[in-house]
Amino acid sequence: MNTATVHINVGKGYHVTVGSGLLGHCGAIAGALLEPCRIAIITDTIVEGLYLPRAAESIAGAGFEVSYFAFPAGERSKSMGTLTRILEFLAGEKFTRTDCLAALGGGVAGDIAGFAAGCYLRGIRYLQLPTTLLAAVDSSVGGKTAVNLEAGKNLAGLFLQPEAVICDTGCFASLPPHILGDGTAEAVKTGILAGEELFSIFESGGAKDKLPEIVTRCVAYKGRIVEADELESGPRRLLNLGHTVGHAIEKLSGYRISHGHAVAAGMAVIARAALRLGRCSPACAARIEKTLLENSLPVTTNFTAAGLAAAALADKKRAGEEITLVLPREIGDCILWKIAVKELQGIIDAGMEPL
Ligand code: NAD
Repeated sequence: MNTATVHINVGKGYHVTVGSGLLGHCGAIAGALLEPCRIAIITDTIVEGLYLPRAAESIAGAGFEVSYFAFPAGERSKSMGTLTRILEFLAGEKFTRTDCLAALGGGVAGDIAGFAAGCYLRGIRYLQLPTTLLAAVDSSVGGKTAVNLEAGKNLAGLFLQPEAVICDTGCFASLPPHILGDGTAEAVKTGILAGEELFSIFESGGAKDKLPEIVTRCVAYKGRIVEADELESGPRRLLNLGHTVGHAIEKLSGYRISHGHAVAAGMAVIARAALRLGRCSPACAARIEKTLLENSLPVTTNFTAAGLAAAALADKKRAGEEITLVLPREIGDCILWKIAVKELQGIIDAGMEPL
């Protein structure tokens, strides 16, 4: 089997293994890391039907005792209610500190299973088995876990690195185009941050045929950032490119607009704003907008600048009267830009109109 491995050197460190067909080998990979224990697979109801049997069979085949918990698929499940049900399930099953969780699915399963692992018995171990492109290129790596509160996205959570990330790129074959697009948006984001080698894959329209390479490049880039700044007090904030406006779009839409599509529009808004404020080259802003469009991603939003600014200011990334935005200057050259809260609406307004 053709696989690639990226080592993430945070805490005691872990490997991200990427390759088609890996789900059938996840038990063997876990077996090389963990003593025999119980593993609870946390998944959603769609992934349960598609991939749970393969993952469970592999994990059981490696000598682990397997159980599972499936929650209704979708962002609305990323809630305190689901978290509580998972914790009660683990307690009911008498999971102990030496047992382990496995997040099987997209970013929602990963974020909520990671959070459950971090607080059950004050912390147990977990594996990430991402099945969406978004989870593979972004959310399964780096140890951020969360649930949403009424007040906004990801407002409760903790940092906990997984024991391993096992990414079967064969799972992407069953992704509906819209969900594949969500992952593409986060991967384009990484391309804008990381530079030409990755970004040009999306610009030339060949992304669909290069998913394992895209995942490996995104994970390698994210790994370097997380190694430098695990707790997001410095350069890790660059990974929030497009997210201030993106989170506001998600929230204002009642989460009907999905994360990746919201972030795509958020990136386009901030790139145009940066251009019109003289901080981004015209070529860079144009390439970002064109590349998003070519990958069937949105570059505008119907919400107003005032509405977006108000929603964004409930975001946890606000620090007192200041907020930090991520501005692209060139492909591969993005900066953190601290602004006064009262400036936000004007900046978003500058980026609303397409080029
Ligand atoms: P998701 O987990 O809801 O998955 C999207 C949909 O795809 C779901 O309906 C799921 O059942 C389905 N699905 C999953 N794998 C499939 C497959 N292989 N084939 C067919 N269908 C499949 O959403 P997502 O887009 O993966 O992740 C979005 C979440 O990730 C958001 O909550 C976002 O906040 C979070 N996120 C977290 C981080 C982080 O660092 N922790 C980073 C980025 C995003």
